[in-house]
Amino acid sequence: MTHVYNFSAGPAVLPREVLEQAAAEMLDWHGSGMSVMEMSHRGPEFISIYEDAVRNLRDLLGVPANYKILFLQGGGIGENAIVPLNLAGLSMAQPATVDFVRTGSWSTKSFQEAARYVQANLAAGPRAGEGYTSIPPQESWQLSKDAAYLHICTNETIDGVEFNFVPTVQGDTPIVADMSSHILSRRVDVSKYGVIFAGAQKNIGPAGLTIVIVREDLLGHALPICPSAFDWKIVADHDSMYNTPPTYGIYIAGLTFQWLQKQGGVAAMEQRNIEKARLLYDALDADDFYQNRVAPDCRSRMNIPFFLRDESLNDKFLAGAKARGLLQLKGHKSVGGMRASIYNAMPIEGVQALVDYLNEFAGR
Ligand code: PMP
Repeated sequence: MTHVYNFSAGPAVLPREVLEQAAAEMLDWHGSGMSVMEMSHRGPEFISIYEDAVRNLRDLLGVPANYKILFLQGGGIGENAIVPLNLAGLSMAQPATVDFVRTGSWSTKSFQEAARYVQANLAAGPRAGEGYTSIPPQESWQLSKDAAYLHICTNETIDGVEFNFVPTVQGDTPIVADMSSHILSRRVDVSKYGVIFAGAQKNIGPAGLTIVIVREDLLGHALPICPSAFDWKIVADHDSMYNTPPTYGIYIAGLTFQWLQKQGGVAAMEQRNIEKARLLYDALDADDFYQNRVAPDCRSRMNIPFFLRDESLNDKFLAGAKARGLLQLKGHKSVGGMRASIYNAMPIEGVQALVDYLNEFAGR
């Protein structure tokens, strides 16, 4: 088999050990004679897989006891509607006001979708004529007094902008954070957030599983039009089995959580991610052959967009990368250029191989 390093933004690289274990258990899980895909979600085998996954995720992220961990479907884009449908009822106002901070493509999409259900207030965004290259300083945010919640995307996958602070909010306004592309890559104080959501297909497992971590007092405020399969209170009351959950995705997620424990947990992962990101940014910053346009204190450790100074070399760069087994480096179509996603499962050797190629291509 050819050895490759996969820099896709998602679905993305998974730990090799996880894939090997899944392959070994594919036809017969732990002597059950069944593949996990074939199991009833209500049977004792799958319930043990589910409980293990919830327990390990709670442990890895330090999720307090007064938070529920839900396994849903619908992805991040689904959550853009599911979140307002669940939380709009927190506000007395009709329609509820919700604050958004626009820091990139994903928070912008969340803002646009929520506007179908709530009064979406743009509390902060990029300055006119500027792209998404930084997090607007908190002093500049125009937060509403009566917001049902504040929505942020703590790592913008397309733009490569990552929060390095938790916003402070007035009163008890909950913060909702889309952590799809950096969950489990760094330590987080879950108690500072009302809701954390993430699609699985970057740092956790296959597409189709969505993780929602929600503080218990935020359950039970859904609008009547919220589909019951997405009403967090109903889902929580049924331990994520109100409808059939994405069972195979939960199983792979559970294997990834076990793998993370073996790596030393999130704190150890964070150290490695800091090193990997430093290695790559240093190569990009070495001279002006390459360019990353994000303000240094807001640079993502997970998704690193960059441009070649001479963009006519883009195709040649990508072809050379592919020939070396460095895959999926083309930037998102909305911004162009290149993007290297270096999630937890990307080993430092993969980043080093990319750095070696960057140096070689630049003629250094
Ligand atoms: N939010 C973020 C931060 C993302 O990176 C993505 C996917 N790239 C989404 C939301 C949307 O996820 P999905 O395609 O699973 O709906």
